[in-house]
Amino acid sequence: MQDKLHYNEKLLKTALIVDDEMVNRELLGGILEDHYHLLYAEDGQQAMDILELEHATISIILLDLIMPHVSGLNVLQFIQEHEEYRNIPVIVLTSQTTAEVDSLNMGAVDFIPKPYNMPEVILSRVNRMVELFEDRQIIKAAERDVLTGLFSQNFFYEYCDMMENYHPERDTDAVVVNIDRFHLINEVYGRKYGDDVLKILANILKDYANNHEGIAGRGEDDTFYMYLNHQDRYADLTKKIQSKFATSIKNSYMHVRIGVYNKMYEPTLLKDMFYKATLACNTIRNKYHMSVVNFDKNLRTKIVFRERLIHDIHKAIERKQFIPYFQPKYNIQGEQPVLAGAEALVRWKHPEFGMISPGSFISLFEANGLIQIVDHYIWQEAAAQIKRWKEKYGFSIPISVNISRIDFYNPKLEEWLTQIVEENELRYDELHLEITESCYADNAQQLMTTVERLRKKGFVIELDDFGTGYSSLSVLSSLPIDVIKIDMKFINSMHENHMNMRIVEMIMDIARILKTPTIAEGVETKQQHDDLKTMGCNMIQGYYFSKPLPAEEFEDFFKLSPHEKIKAQK
Ligand code: C2E
Ligand code: CA
Ligand code: CA
Repeated sequence: MQDKLHYNEKLLKTALIVDDEMVNRELLGGILEDHYHLLYAEDGQQAMDILELEHATISIILLDLIMPHVSGLNVLQFIQEHEEYRNIPVIVLTSQTTAEVDSLNMGAVDFIPKPYNMPEVILSRVNRMVELFEDRQIIKAAERDVLTGLFSQNFFYEYCDMMENYHPERDTDAVVVNIDRFHLINEVYGRKYGDDVLKILANILKDYANNHEGIAGRGEDDTFYMYLNHQDRYADLTKKIQSKFATSIKNSYMHVRIGVYNKMYEPTLLKDMFYKATLACNTIRNKYHMSVVNFDKNLRTKIVFRERLIHDIHKAIERKQFIPYFQPKYNIQGEQPVLAGAEALVRWKHPEFGMISPGSFISLFEANGLIQIVDHYIWQEAAAQIKRWKEKYGFSIPISVNISRIDFYNPKLEEWLTQIVEENELRYDELHLEITESCYADNAQQLMTTVERLRKKGFVIELDDFGTGYSSLSVLSSLPIDVIKIDMKFINSMHENHMNMRIVEMIMDIARILKTPTIAEGVETKQQHDDLKTMGCNMIQGYYFSKPLPAEEFEDFFKLSPHEKIKAQK
């Protein structure tokens, strides 16, 4: 019995009765005791003390107004001043009608007149208030994002709509804020760190929106929204974010991107404004030098262009609009440079836009996975070209193809490559695979296993863009690679920038220790060629010998010496 009572008591909601007269406490208590767990206070001070300890569990307060020392109105005021108590509904117990109005103005939700002669009515009024406030709490919880306290997405949109309805003439901005590669931040530094970053950012945005007559909300993960008065620039916001991050979190370097849609650009539906601000925001993903971008005419053209490319890709494959160009690689270690291979570089001969270089579509197609289709096609074309040249000239020239980091998500990668080699009756070492250094950093283990298997099969693996991926020496020595390609950024400037010259020399030393041959990319001048040769660089690729060329033009390299060819080009 004892246990059962105890259990019931726990299930009951708690009501606090505040009255200085015992008879009133007992009367009210008698009405409520079967339905509520009751706490009693004999004066205002005691009520405040109980609130402090028990506010989290109290569902309703019944408050007498006239008490000695601390009156009921004082208690009401105290409740209003404390955010954590404000959610608890207060019903005032009174015999004076004038005080009722005062107390309602001070935040009471209802009143019960004394004397208590209709117990059922009192009980049902108390019950109704408790329910009403619980519903309100639930709505409030859905309205707010738990982590940051900002509006959750749907409520954010509703409030924006309301603002629009009241002030349709206002010049406003829809703003989308996102942190680049936030999932990595969570993974590397842990969830708690990630949460702290989000909370800090949320507070900055809330203040900023407040200061510009707007509101802030949180979407999924690390996406935030603001709707506020139009700003010409958001430089003050980005500065604030940077300095706050710098002072309040470790490893604070983060790229926060901001996309803006100004209503005056073209009034449209609210959600559409945020959609376009999101598109704008996405165009500066991984572009660390840019933090804010506006949706404007230029951007619209760019986005439409990108959409067109995505739309056209399948037709382009069918109609053979993707064309591999070939750039020669020369071995420079002997007296005369010797043609050692070529890199296949894709071009898109678009019927409307003309020749499009990979810079315009590779990252776009990487973002949506379509790169796999283009790469597969180019690998096939490259392999077929090796075969044709073999048949025509009687010797083989290895061709390297680029493998995007996205290609490694394809479980059939190995199968595709193997099939291509076999269909064209090639040896595996006639097809070289260029894999960028940063790729190994992204998803190291799984990628390494795949590359290891391909290499065992006989494919030659070239480490592309070496020097930009921050591999440590210990990682480098364990990578499954056959050739190191030094990134052209070091070669370009090695004569102007002494540091880069030293880096190239060091890479050469490392390659010697690892007994791995080197290719220098982007060699444009004789001086670069000569110095690289002296340093022991094995191969050279770059405009010095030739730009990438269509297959027919490339064939000249089989017939002429490179110097003759260079002359012929000039
Ligand atoms: P990458 O693999 O580093 O290729 C070298 C890029 O440097 C090529 O640009 C080439 O034309 C250019 N280049 C070669 N020599 C010189 C030089 O002496 N000076 C200068 N300034 N540039 C030189 P391209 O063809 O525009 O390709 C850009 C990037 O697009 C490539 O960089 C590669 O990452 C990617 N790419 C090209 N074709 C493919 C492909 O079929 N599949 C994939 N996934 N990516 C490709
Ligand atoms: Ca390459
Ligand atoms: Ca490269």
